[in-house]
Amino acid sequence: MKTSDTEAEKAGENTAPESRPSNFIRDIILDDLKTNKFGGRVQTRFPPEPNGYLHIGHAKAICLDFGLADEFGGHTNLRFDDTNPEKEETEYVESIQADVKWLGFHWDGLFYASDYFDQLYEWAIKLIKDRKAYVDDLSADEIREYRGTLTEPGKDSPFRNRSAEENLDLFQRMKAGEFPDGSRVLRAKIDMASPNLNMRDPVMYRILHAEHHRTGNKWCIYPMYDFAHGQSDSIERVTHSMCTLEFEDHRLLYNWFIQQLGIFPSQQIEFDRLNLTHTLLSKRKLLQLVQEGRVSGWDDPRMPTLSGIRRRGYTPEAIRNFIASIGVSKTTGSIELAMLEHFVREDLNKRAPRVMAVLRPLKVVIDNYPEDQVEEMDAVNNPEDESAGSRKVPFSRVLYIEQDDFREVPPPKYYRLSPGREVRLRYGYFVTCASVVKNDKGEVVEVHCTYDPATRGGNAPDGRKVKATIHWVAASSAIDAEVRIYENLFLKENPSEVEEGQDVLDNLNPKSLEVIADAKLEPSLAKAIAGNRFQFERLGYFCVDPDSKPGKPVFNRTIALKDTWAKLERKQGGRA
Ligand code: ATP
Ligand code: MG
Repeated sequence: MKTSDTEAEKAGENTAPESRPSNFIRDIILDDLKTNKFGGRVQTRFPPEPNGYLHIGHAKAICLDFGLADEFGGHTNLRFDDTNPEKEETEYVESIQADVKWLGFHWDGLFYASDYFDQLYEWAIKLIKDRKAYVDDLSADEIREYRGTLTEPGKDSPFRNRSAEENLDLFQRMKAGEFPDGSRVLRAKIDMASPNLNMRDPVMYRILHAEHHRTGNKWCIYPMYDFAHGQSDSIERVTHSMCTLEFEDHRLLYNWFIQQLGIFPSQQIEFDRLNLTHTLLSKRKLLQLVQEGRVSGWDDPRMPTLSGIRRRGYTPEAIRNFIASIGVSKTTGSIELAMLEHFVREDLNKRAPRVMAVLRPLKVVIDNYPEDQVEEMDAVNNPEDESAGSRKVPFSRVLYIEQDDFREVPPPKYYRLSPGREVRLRYGYFVTCASVVKNDKGEVVEVHCTYDPATRGGNAPDGRKVKATIHWVAASSAIDAEVRIYENLFLKENPSEVEEGQDVLDNLNPKSLEVIADAKLEPSLAKAIAGNRFQFERLGYFCVDPDSKPGKPVFNRTIALKDTWAKLERKQGGRA
């Protein structure tokens, strides 16, 4: 059977990872190697905050961090940015590690920002002694008010000129737990009139009497991202610290702390974050979907999380090829979801064994086929991969076909089964529809056919042609299965586009999940286990879900066969 997958393949010809699109970060690294800026070293890190599951956007960061280091024989650490104990959990730490491994990457060091809390505290003391940091008693609201705006300078806090001794005393007492949450902060003393708002005396430490998933109750003050991230990079001697564009305005501060402390000068480089149409990529919003029960969990196959798309049947290779093809830049845009799907089809087309499954069964009886006869038909496992071999598929008198493959009154250009029409049953015989049986409501519930024994295997010795080949499953040996059909979680191209007074979640597609309870599968699928991927001929790619029970498998539709991306591309006359 030929599907548009062949077209997808053609369209993908130029997308092998070796034909890499330009990558300005690689250029920076090449330049640094030439000038020996870091002694010829390349070291990166992937720094997730363990406050949710990783999503496809993170895959871009992971591929860059690990991919570029690998390319230059460098090292990559996995470092959890765990400075916010209220939102962070061990479950997330574990899922993140599993997801990075699944994508195919291996970290050198495994670290936590909390490993460095003692060092960070000492560095804060140093900055206080150097009169570069002070304890401020203003409330959070007041600090915001005093900060000024993009057009107006901020003004100094009345506590800005405390003596180093007083600051030291107050900071130590903050650490000792003497003050309630929110009553004081430690701030860097930089410039309240700086055109960069991040330089207007940013907060370094806040008081938070919260138990930390690793340090327990040791600390009741926690460093802010800006005072933890660059220093952690520096401690690990990271050379190229990649992050998304929203941190561009933080770079000045990143460098300022490193300079004041006189520590290893890691270099921050910003790139555009991945946005996908019809997809929400924000851990906070994804958490809301989970907490409100809008999806079955972080790994719901409709979620853009790595655990969700893994369960759905996407492959790590497809994701890596997709990420390689989109490149990196300094301008934020949105990538068509269809492009990701194109890479999923392209990869599955190569590796997924073909099987026959009927999602919405219609009974077919072949009147002239011997009652108790069962024939084992030869079926090709993968036309794209000769080494996949073939298998036997039982054929018998009573079969199921798709309801869609029969029309009592065929519309124009409909060539599948209809009264008097002859079609090919794939790997089977030519059959001709003789009559139908209807229920009380007048619906066709059974189709009667005759077969031509001379057409075994699917060809007529007299050379006559049929215009359609349809798939089928023999009733006596069929496996009953549940099949879950997924559509986009969001219909809108940009899910964040909401009417006044509405929430992103109001944009949810109410029909994103359809459960088919009584699909019929060919018996070879009895051996399938969770995670196995198949192409159901003519329908799409499907993956065995972990909800499967012995004798009652559950399949997720990974993706249908139609490749809108390849079509779009052809229309546009080249790659977008
Ligand atoms: P979210 O906005 O989804 O909550 P985040 O940026 O807060 O994500 P982190 O755990 O801080 O999540 O991210 C870890 C790394 O992944 C960071 O370097 C971040 O820049 C990067 N990253 C996050 N989202 C994307 C994205 N959509 N595209 C590319 N990189 C991303
Ligand atoms: Mg973050």
